[in-house]
Amino acid sequence: MTGAAFTDTIAAIATGTGPAGVGVVRVSGPETFLVADRVLGGRSGAASQAGHTLRRATLRDPQTGETLDDGLAAVFHAPRSLTGENVFEWQGHGGPVTLARVLAAFLSAGARTARPGEFLERAFLNGKLDLSQAEAIADQVSAQTVAAQRVARRQAQGALSREVNAAAAHVREVCALVEASIDFPDEVGEADPAVLEHHLAAAASRITRLVDGALFGRRLRDGLIVVLAGRPNAGKSSLLNALAQTERAIVTPVPGTTRDVVEEAVNLCGLPVRALDTAGLRETNDAVERIGVERARQAIHDADVLVVVLDAEGGSLTPDETGLLHSLAGRPAVVAVNKADAADPAPVFAQAAVLLPAAPAVATSATTGVGIAALARATAGVATGGQSASGAADTVLVTSARHEAALRAALTALDAARNTLAQCLPAELIAVDAHGALRALGEITGETAREDIIAAIFSRFCLGK
Ligand code: GDP
Repeated sequence: MTGAAFTDTIAAIATGTGPAGVGVVRVSGPETFLVADRVLGGRSGAASQAGHTLRRATLRDPQTGETLDDGLAAVFHAPRSLTGENVFEWQGHGGPVTLARVLAAFLSAGARTARPGEFLERAFLNGKLDLSQAEAIADQVSAQTVAAQRVARRQAQGALSREVNAAAAHVREVCALVEASIDFPDEVGEADPAVLEHHLAAAASRITRLVDGALFGRRLRDGLIVVLAGRPNAGKSSLLNALAQTERAIVTPVPGTTRDVVEEAVNLCGLPVRALDTAGLRETNDAVERIGVERARQAIHDADVLVVVLDAEGGSLTPDETGLLHSLAGRPAVVAVNKADAADPAPVFAQAAVLLPAAPAVATSATTGVGIAALARATAGVATGGQSASGAADTVLVTSARHEAALRAALTALDAARNTLAQCLPAELIAVDAHGALRALGEITGETAREDIIAAIFSRFCLGK
């Protein structure tokens, strides 16, 4: 899928549109330099400017001649550009009005407004990058934590594509061996089953490694919802504040006053988390508090991970707490026995361990800060199936559900091929499944992805990308 020729020239604001020192408008397409010459002051044309250089210039309205901005003209000659086409970038002043006027000048000079993601779509269709790299660039732009940004960067540099291609190379070898034995039975004879199994197993193990990290990758990219639940006054708001290291939730000594759901964006060991502090769960006749309790139940239902906050000071669980722990059996949860500074947490620990044996339990004190880091680690661990963001820098991570689904489909096809091989069934059948695995892997890099799926992926990108 290389060398797609587009007839129209597109333009968009590539930088944010808030007040800013610098703003960039990007133009790409066959008429790029003609369009640029219509808006630029000065004598020499954009086409004669050396590629990858900047030139000081003024920019004017092609209709009225009014000077709109002064700045730098950047020129990239096809195919050595982002899109593979001639590209022009105006680096002028930022700010919504200036940028809108500059873009309007390019449009009246003959460009049309780019759709969201259209620059990267052209780059992909012109073979400048593969689909997973383009998706990673969008991920990098929307990354919410350093760990997420780092993983996106590695993927943008082709780390995931290399892994996928390495697995695909083994599968291709299988196809080649099997097809040779079918096409030239007299010359090459039957393909050696041990060699076929070696390649199929090698591909499957590479793909399995990627699938194993997919939950962590998805959490890192998409974030997750953590809900703090427990009875009033257990210290949920205080713990949320401690986790967020901010003072957003309202902390008060009167039980039942956190009546609504308070939300905080928390960076939990590199994972972007929406942490929700719920109203205390207890039976109540207060109408307003009852709404809060209802919302809390909904939040608990929606949570990816629950942090059950228990109060060490009580010494034993209340019926409400016992009921909550019961209801969470099988859910991803962490138990925080809070106020460990004020009372021995051991008795509450012991009771919680009986009701929720699989959940890690941490003694915390929102007051002194003891146990907060351990609580964050335990919560991140439950969210990611035990993986940590600190290792994310060195591993190739699958971050998108689309990629994960494709990898799982490839694994299923490889399993089928290995079964066929084990049962000594005809080689043609192995080839069918091996080709199925290749098609699934190709969806990640875009080699075999359907056009409408590709279009849908790029349409989700932001404007100017
Ligand atoms: P929530 O109703 O569960 O959100 O509880 P809050 O966070 O509002 O806390 C209730 C009360 O317990 C407040 O007076 C807090 O100062 C106090 N508190 C919270 N955490 C701790 C803790 O770790 N140790 C002690 N000693 N008091 C705490």
